[in-house]
Amino acid sequence: MKKNLFILFFIFLIFSYLYGQKAPKNVILLIGDGMGPVQVEALSYLKSGKPAVMTQFPYHGISNTNNLRDSITDSAAGGSALSTGKKTLNGHVATDENGNPNENIVEWVSRENNMGTGIIVTSHITDATPAAFYAHVNSRKEHEEIARQLVFSDLDFVAGGYLNYFLPEERKDHLNLLDSLDIRGFTLNTSIAEMNNAVAAKPFVMLSEKYPPKASERESWLQNCMYNAFDCLTRHTNGFFLMVEGSQIDWACHDNDFDHFADEILEFDKAVQIAYEFAMANDETLVVVTADHETGGMSLDPAIKKVKKKLVSQEVGKYVTWGTKRHTGKPVNVYAFGPGSELFQGEMENTDIYLKIKNLLNRKH
Ligand SMILES: [Zn+2]
Repeated sequence: MKKNLFILFFIFLIFSYLYGQKAPKNVILLIGDGMGPVQVEALSYLKSGKPAVMTQFPYHGISNTNNLRDSITDSAAGGSALSTGKKTLNGHVATDENGNPNENIVEWVSRENNMGTGIIVTSHITDATPAAFYAHVNSRKEHEEIARQLVFSDLDFVAGGYLNYFLPEERKDHLNLLDSLDIRGFTLNTSIAEMNNAVAAKPFVMLSEKYPPKASERESWLQNCMYNAFDCLTRHTNGFFLMVEGSQIDWACHDNDFDHFADEILEFDKAVQIAYEFAMANDETLVVVTADHETGGMSLDPAIKKVKKKLVSQEVGKYVTWGTKRHTGKPVNVYAFGPGSELFQGEMENTDIYLKIKNLLNRKH
């Protein structure tokens, strides 16, 4: 008798745990490329002691970023782990070590839930991380092929740089992808103003012909694109999945360029704030913030903690040392807010982030 009661109680626990969780309608995944734990700490000093928005989220975890060979990842393998839930080799974009495609979350939510999907980055749109959410190639350097796959992807909102990959006169194969964009129902915008004035069903926003400029020269790129993406994607009655990347945090850390880093991570912090405000206003939205790996081996001199006065960016930079110009294997942080966010606690593999999001969006059980 006692044993049966215990089993019943245990089943009840499982059910309340499973169904107690409110499932999100929308998911916003923000990726700080190269943003390790020290980069997040430095951000609060750059904000004159105000905390980074992500650190105010209720649930925190730690993500192991190593690739399939358990060695230091690049953004292709790191982005693919987040987008497909599978570890792979460096350079591979959403394909396994044998070159077979691994389905990504954009494809899955489009097919299974008919949700809206979007990506916003501050790099060339064919860079490894964004590519992991729409393309399948064995080399991240296949930019023209990645661009071609983007046009035929399930995405409804696209924003980033490097328009030239879509122009016949710039491509080696002279393929006119602008015509294909049209056929696929995309509307090309090449400026923030054009994007804000257009009422497009599927905006395809290319804000630079080649590599995008730094945050200091970009007119609030992430913020403007996020507001436009919300306008577009909230039209999808089944909800949406949006990936937003602070891409150039990585570029700045590769260069050990603290000023560039400061501008990029401050813009990313504002993007997190916008996602948070959207989720506060619409309580069906899960916001997850993480990184694909750490870049630069950044460390902060503990003496900075004793500084009483507010520091300006350059002064914060004086307390920073760089250990390398490459990626490191440091675990990165995960922060979550909204329905299902309690799942993003403790230690996890980067692939678990995909699995947790997918389980929460699995509306068939
Ligand atoms: Zn990198």
